Amino acid sequence: MIDLPDFTPVKVTQATRPYTESQLAALDHVALVLPKEPPGALFARLPQGKQLHKLVERARAQGLNRTFTRLSNTRATGVTAALLDASTPFARLTWARELVADCLRERPAKLGVLTAGLDEEARASAVAAIVAAVQAAAFKLPTFKTEEQPRPIELEQVGVLDAKPRLPLDRLRAEALGNNLARWLTVLPPNRLTVRAYREMVEELARRYSLSCKFLGEKELEKLGAGAFLAVARGNPHRDAGMIRLGYRPPGARRPELTLVGKGVLFDTGGINLKPFKGMLDMHMDMQGSAVALGTLIALATLRVPYGVDAWLAVTENTISPSAYRPQDIVTAANGTSIQVIHTDAEGRMILADALALAARDEPKLIIDYATLTGSCISALTQRYSGVFTNRPRAHPLLIDAGASSGERVWPFPMDEDFDQLLRSDVADIKQCAVEGHGDHILAARFLSRFVPKSIAWVHVDLAAGEHKGGLAHVPTDATGFGVRLTLELLGRSAPSAFAESVADR
Ligand SMILES: [Zn+2]
Repeated sequence: MIDLPDFTPVKVTQATRPYTESQLAALDHVALVLPKEPPGALFARLPQGKQLHKLVERARAQGLNRTFTRLSNTRATGVTAALLDASTPFARLTWARELVADCLRERPAKLGVLTAGLDEEARASAVAAIVAAVQAAAFKLPTFKTEEQPRPIELEQVGVLDAKPRLPLDRLRAEALGNNLARWLTVLPPNRLTVRAYREMVEELARRYSLSCKFLGEKELEKLGAGAFLAVARGNPHRDAGMIRLGYRPPGARRPELTLVGKGVLFDTGGINLKPFKGMLDMHMDMQGSAVALGTLIALATLRVPYGVDAWLAVTENTISPSAYRPQDIVTAANGTSIQVIHTDAEGRMILADALALAARDEPKLIIDYATLTGSCISALTQRYSGVFTNRPRAHPLLIDAGASSGERVWPFPMDEDFDQLLRSDVADIKQCAVEGHGDHILAARFLSRFVPKSIAWVHVDLAAGEHKGGLAHVPTDATGFGVRLTLELLGRSAPSAFAESVADR
């Protein structure tokens, strides 16, 4: 059992009055944000402004948007001055990630963030991007090195020195908490994050965040008729697989208004249709969907949203074994749909089919599922965007917009009914996937739609951007935890029932 760390992001405070030189002198480092083309007069108001002006002009002449200096106080506070050069939230978060990497290089314990010469809107968005980037960078992912590591000075505190506008610090903290948690779980090695260990960790987190938690093991799932999930779990040498059902309820809420569903395949070998070396290498991260669902639930719970939220995590391995499920097996899912198995590596949609069917029984207004589901989604979008699919096409612009604003960019794909012709089976209600792989991300979404009643608004997120070498937007690690910010942005605009109402077919 691995001890769970404290996932709380580094503490951020915001000043209530203009900063003083002595406040600066109490900081180890300051990130100073300036306009892209700072007017000379601006520097007169800044500490060591003349020198700073020269450095900034020199950097600009070299085509750089950052420069470094030190203040002449006793602490020799470092200053990284950065020109704000970003036209979209994604570009701003990327800019912030690079700026923060520079600021943290000196391992400051106390970091300040200050702007000059920006209008209120630019100031708010730039500082929020930096806070998000700091909270992502300061969180340590697990390592298993036994050699003594040089003890870094931990970042203890971040102080925003601009008093106005007030930042949404609670929201930023919740997003970072959910994202940290998702990334931490995602990178755990597969022999450490066993089904049993995952379940124990989730139970511990449920206690920590006052969530209800119920585990449905194989026996219970058999009673519920979850034959698609159990087909995948069959190959496990243990009988630990199951679904973890979590719930957050504010006072007065008995049912979930929103249900989050996550694919938790702790290691995906592909099964009998075994993956090749490179395709299998990072398959311990095939549980990221479940970690994102969990992180999002915890983020919403810490924000105390006024509606009930459930999460269903479908947790198993997809392994090779004499008892593993095979192509041409026919299994029946919890809603009675019979499935002709075509390819054992399409296990994600099998376990999600039952998770969606079971989650739908509570009749939430909105279901959102997250899964590292298909290679074809990556082929279509690269690992910079994730794909979204919904049974409410009117939600497309809202999803695109929430993705663009949050920096977790998504693009919708079509899922018209006639795609089902490609999943037509002669021997069962539906084929698991097509023999030819064209548009597998779309067919996977069509397949999943069979398990969500039309009365429930449903969004499926195929996490093509769940892993991106070197990080993505403000997140500096390969595992991106993509999905938490997207969802909080979407729900920050309207509660699940209002969202479902606004995208209903007219
Ligand atoms: Zn697979």
